[in-house]
Amino acid sequence: MSGKLVLIGCGPGGVDLLTIRAARKIAEADLVLYDRLVDPDVVALAGSGAECRYVGKGCSDGGIQQADINAYLRSALLAGRVVARLKSGDPMVFGRAAEEIAVAVEIGAEVEIVPGVTAALAAASDALITVTERAELQSFVMTTGRAADSDAQPDWANVVKPGVCAAFYMGVAQAWRIQSVLMGAGVPGNAPADWVEKAGQTDMRTIPTRLDRLALDARANNVTNPAILLVRYPLSLAEARGVPAPSLQRAL
Ligand code: SAH
Repeated sequence: MSGKLVLIGCGPGGVDLLTIRAARKIAEADLVLYDRLVDPDVVALAGSGAECRYVGKGCSDGGIQQADINAYLRSALLAGRVVARLKSGDPMVFGRAAEEIAVAVEIGAEVEIVPGVTAALAAASDALITVTERAELQSFVMTTGRAADSDAQPDWANVVKPGVCAAFYMGVAQAWRIQSVLMGAGVPGNAPADWVEKAGQTDMRTIPTRLDRLALDARANNVTNPAILLVRYPLSLAEARGVPAPSLQRAL
């Protein structure tokens, strides 16, 4: 009999941003696998008989590889265990969840997902930024500073258009690239932006900036991971620069 995989979103850190469902599922599991950014107080919610195992990957330091996690998960599920896989934020956002779900599905194990507060939304709350805004920002996009292939980069220019707020995960090391690609694509240098470090945690920091100062302000303030970058291109800014915005956008 195959076990069960419960992929649990643990929020951005700070045990009080955990959902009640997540806390219950953690307590019920007999094996708890957790990532680098999961708060130790969250792991401590595991039952006394549960085995807790750290499976965090460093960014590029060759720590545990996803293939090793998948193999371990597979053997635990085949042994019939109930595995709580703790992910920071929401498991479906930059969480490599697809691969772990595939492992469970392939061997016929049950899968359950518990959503969590994703870092971008915790960052928006900390910085008092609404990621949508009537007649200004109609779309909210989550993107990444790092592509799976380290030489490539996501198509940021196609993401940050008039009326869009974009959240960049894993963006600190790419600040200069993000700034130059977007400015090269015509996004104005005075587009408002914010760095939010340790969103949702008691020692979080917000650093207001603008597109043409992203890298400078990150360096001057020593912004370090984990951090989210929020970049906004409000319609009024596009209009002020004579960029035509489709009329229906204003109708909202
Ligand atoms: N699944 C997670 C994202 C994991 S990717 C989620 O939904 O939030 C890891 C990246 O998330 C980090 O490089 C950073 O950009 C961001 N991140 C995670 N926790 C964060 C926090 N507390 N504050 C700011 N950024 C955070």
